[in-house]
Amino acid sequence: MSNLANKDFAAATIAVQTGLNTDKNHQSVVAPIYMASNYKFEDLNNRPAYEYSRSGNPTRDLLANALTELEYGVGSVVTSSGMAAINLVLNLLSKDDVIVAPQDCYGGTYRLFDSFAQRGVFKLVWLDYYADDIEQQIQKIKPSIVWIETPSNPLLRITDIKKLSATAKSVGARTVVDNTFLSPIGQTPLKLGADIVVHSSTKYLNGHSDVVSGAVICASADDHEQLAWWANNTGVTGSPFDSYLILRGIRTLPLRIKQHSKNAQSIAEVLDAHELVKHVNFPGLPSHPDHELANRQQNYNAGMLSFELNGDINTVNSFIKNLQLFTLAESLGGTESLVCHPSTMTHAAMDEEAQLTAGITTQLVRFSVGIEDKADLVADVIQALSVANIEKNTPNAAGRSAKAGLKKVLDDDSVDSAACRLSPALAALW
Ligand SMILES: *Cc1c(COP(=O)(O)O)cnc(C)c1O
Repeated sequence: MSNLANKDFAAATIAVQTGLNTDKNHQSVVAPIYMASNYKFEDLNNRPAYEYSRSGNPTRDLLANALTELEYGVGSVVTSSGMAAINLVLNLLSKDDVIVAPQDCYGGTYRLFDSFAQRGVFKLVWLDYYADDIEQQIQKIKPSIVWIETPSNPLLRITDIKKLSATAKSVGARTVVDNTFLSPIGQTPLKLGADIVVHSSTKYLNGHSDVVSGAVICASADDHEQLAWWANNTGVTGSPFDSYLILRGIRTLPLRIKQHSKNAQSIAEVLDAHELVKHVNFPGLPSHPDHELANRQQNYNAGMLSFELNGDINTVNSFIKNLQLFTLAESLGGTESLVCHPSTMTHAAMDEEAQLTAGITTQLVRFSVGIEDKADLVADVIQALSVANIEKNTPNAAGRSAKAGLKKVLDDDSVDSAACRLSPALAALW
């Protein structure tokens, strides 16, 4: 199949064009879904191109090809979930091999690596990837796989893919990058020297919060052959219908990532300037410790950000409850905006000490900023901060009535014009 990436097309062109006009039966522009589990052999000497859908499926192959093109790989395996993709890559390890991984990686990754290592499937070393001597540590450990997740969750720290891939290569290790938080529109790790990219396609790739799926994209034909073999062997391949939906989602991925990024940038700036906000974690802010690196390594920052509020858990709760356009839910990367409280939700499996070591306080709030209108989202964040601030500063009858007054004004009109009509006392609390 043609590889659009080799023809130097931009990602937006690849995303729209990939897999079009491939239907030889009816010339449908968009490829049909092949739900069939099995395919007919003409006779014993003539095998069909596809035999059985665990091993191979035309719809799944179109998605695999799209991901190969977008990530600049040589081959991809589409899996039933992001965790299935991560699990698949671990088949490259034998029991004496060492994998190094960041201690602040995705919770499911942490649990999988840890439980396999405890059973002796491979050896595991957790590292602080933001330590100054991270390269020396990797050179000393001589691992088989260096696992990278950048930006990290939920603090949005950035790892230098180019630098660590070179270090890994110097000791004969493969570099694997979990690219879920940015998608290939945000960054292309294989071009920076990584060997394998994994995705939870559940997130930005599909982008509509209606599929759980994953993918592994390889820079080497040998790795791809091995992992495709293991995917068939272990049965982790993805479904045709999910593949169809993700391919459909990919058509708008470049547009979506642009809007996620713009919206998140504006919200990060508003949060950063507000007195109720202690600290914002977003690589697009110049104050972020990895701002320069993010600018160099990434095309976009996408929609993930987190921040700490001044106040206690009640302030956090009142802020979250007063948001109208952010749904309190886990997951990320969909068109809709979501808010999440990492210490009691996504990262609840970590004990308190591990949470604090990872920088996850009870005041930390995470946003997956969607692609709604930017001004509406910003206004929603400002009004929720204002109400939470009033509740915090005046936790008595006066506060309740001030809040009721503010809410009435807000309910009556758009936030901008509402702000102009606030009484001086309320305006002071804005
Ligand atoms: C969600 C997620 C995963 C796991 O993917 P699933 O599709 O839920 O199995 C892995 N890595 C990251 C960074 C994720 O956000």
